[in-house]
Amino acid sequence: MTKTLHHRACHLCEAICGLTIETETQADGSTQIRSIKGDAQDSFSRGHICPKAVALQDIQNDPDRLRHPMRRVGSEWQAIEWDEAFALVAERLSDIQARHGANAVASYQGNPSVHNYGLLTHSNYFLGLLKTRSRFSATSVDQLPHHLVSLQMYGHGFLLPICDIDHTDFMLILGGNPLASNGSIMT
Ligand code: SF4
Repeated sequence: MTKTLHHRACHLCEAICGLTIETETQADGSTQIRSIKGDAQDSFSRGHICPKAVALQDIQNDPDRLRHPMRRVGSEWQAIEWDEAFALVAERLSDIQARHGANAVASYQGNPSVHNYGLLTHSNYFLGLLKTRSRFSATSVDQLPHHLVSLQMYGHGFLLPICDIDHTDFMLILGGNPLASNGSIMT
């Protein structure tokens, strides 16, 4: 039995908190997560962690987690090979767009994928080739109004005003808990 400490960053939101993940490898080679904690040595988050990161092991160990492409056949789901999946997706996407227009294909990117390094650097190439305006994400749900206001008021969508918490005497927050979420955008 070998215990290993991994230093990682949580990619669930832009706060990018530092994590220490302890794993235990058994003699048969199987590895289990023993704990996920905030990394006190992380210069940015300094040990902060929210409940979402603690629950990362539930995603890792979820028996229903997808580990290979699945194809729906009638009411059944069948595992298929990656080559077959890519060929099928390419054929169906181009067929749908040829028949119904480019915008008939929509994409949705959730927060973890937006903060995934590979997807961050490469998904825009793929989405650009799709030439669809039907693009949605966690941002289009809760952040685009901020970007639009910044564009209109300050001239650029990323000139985001930051709360001056250090000089605030009274702050009323409705529908949020920065102590739990680490304050989206504040970080
Ligand atoms: S605030 Fe929570 S979800 Fe966001 S990076 Fe930190 S631990 Fe992850």
